[in-house]
Amino acid sequence: MRSKTIVFTFLFALLYVQLPAQTKTENVVLVTLDGLRWKELFSGADPKIVSNKKYVKDVPGLKDKYWNDSPVKRRKALFPFMWSTLVQNGQIYGNRELGNKVNVANRYWFSYPGYNELLTGNTDRRIRSNARVDNPNQTILEFANQQRGFQDKVAAFASWDVFHYILAKRRSGIYINAGHDTAKVKLTFREKYLNHLQQHTPSPWRSTRLDEFTHQYAKEYMKKNFPKLVLIAYGETDEYAHEGRYDDYLESATKTDAYIKDLWEFIQSNEHYKDKTTLLITTDHGRGAGRRSWRGHGIDKIGSNHTWFAVMGPDTKPLGEVKAKGHYYTKQLAHTIASYLDLNYPNSGSSENIIATGPVK
Ligand SMILES: [Zn+2]
Repeated sequence: MRSKTIVFTFLFALLYVQLPAQTKTENVVLVTLDGLRWKELFSGADPKIVSNKKYVKDVPGLKDKYWNDSPVKRRKALFPFMWSTLVQNGQIYGNRELGNKVNVANRYWFSYPGYNELLTGNTDRRIRSNARVDNPNQTILEFANQQRGFQDKVAAFASWDVFHYILAKRRSGIYINAGHDTAKVKLTFREKYLNHLQQHTPSPWRSTRLDEFTHQYAKEYMKKNFPKLVLIAYGETDEYAHEGRYDDYLESATKTDAYIKDLWEFIQSNEHYKDKTTLLITTDHGRGAGRRSWRGHGIDKIGSNHTWFAVMGPDTKPLGEVKAKGHYYTKQLAHTIASYLDLNYPNSGSSENIIATGPVK
């Protein structure tokens, strides 16, 4: 028996070593839209809010852009890239009308606990405010940055400055450009110009910048350094929603859809990324489902724990809008990212890649 075990162990080890890499993915770009509701992603402009003059400055103008009686046409008007290229080539999860549900598992339903869950694969009861305190948990970004082949190939770009703490900048050592940070090392012409523009453009918010800067800094860094794991965290949608500006919330969502298109076109036109990059898009929490509660989120706003995610890449079957009944959690995505990159991320509470993989065609 013992010699048999040794033979089997040896054969298994041999097989394991000889197995080709399980994924074609060599890079992952993780994109987040802060507090973007599943309602808008799957049904477009909300009929309960779009005509409310309290939240919309120019109702006919906004409806002209975003309204249609068909939710399928409405969502395509709001997210033209997600509901064309992405849905044709990837997968979109979280349409609760079809019984395909995605939730945050944490008990707080706001940003820091949501990003901690997304980036560590676990919930943490200690993280119950957005205070500027270093995350005690190691994120998938911090872990990846310590793995062979990934050192200095992990980067994060965020509109919200609290990402310095969510990603524990001082401890993790990963490259972070968040809040009103400028680019600092070996500047390209475009980075110099971006620094100038950002310093001379009034920001609507103290701790969040306009997403345009986050997007442009991220893209320029990717062109220059080819990071293998990138987080791009856009923040305007949440800011405008809190201010009760539904028109700006929708327009920012469409702008982010255009950023995602721009990223994908860059990825597929660059030899470092083309056909070996998986794009994963999600959010940190939902928002209230009601005609007034949509502005906020948290445990007192029903629906704030409802989220969604979308994915596209060389290892993702083109299932489109996933219509099968199922229930997923934001905390499962850290392990999913690790699986794509063939990393054995030990901290994650989840143990499987939840996205249907396999040959694309
Ligand atoms: Zn948030």
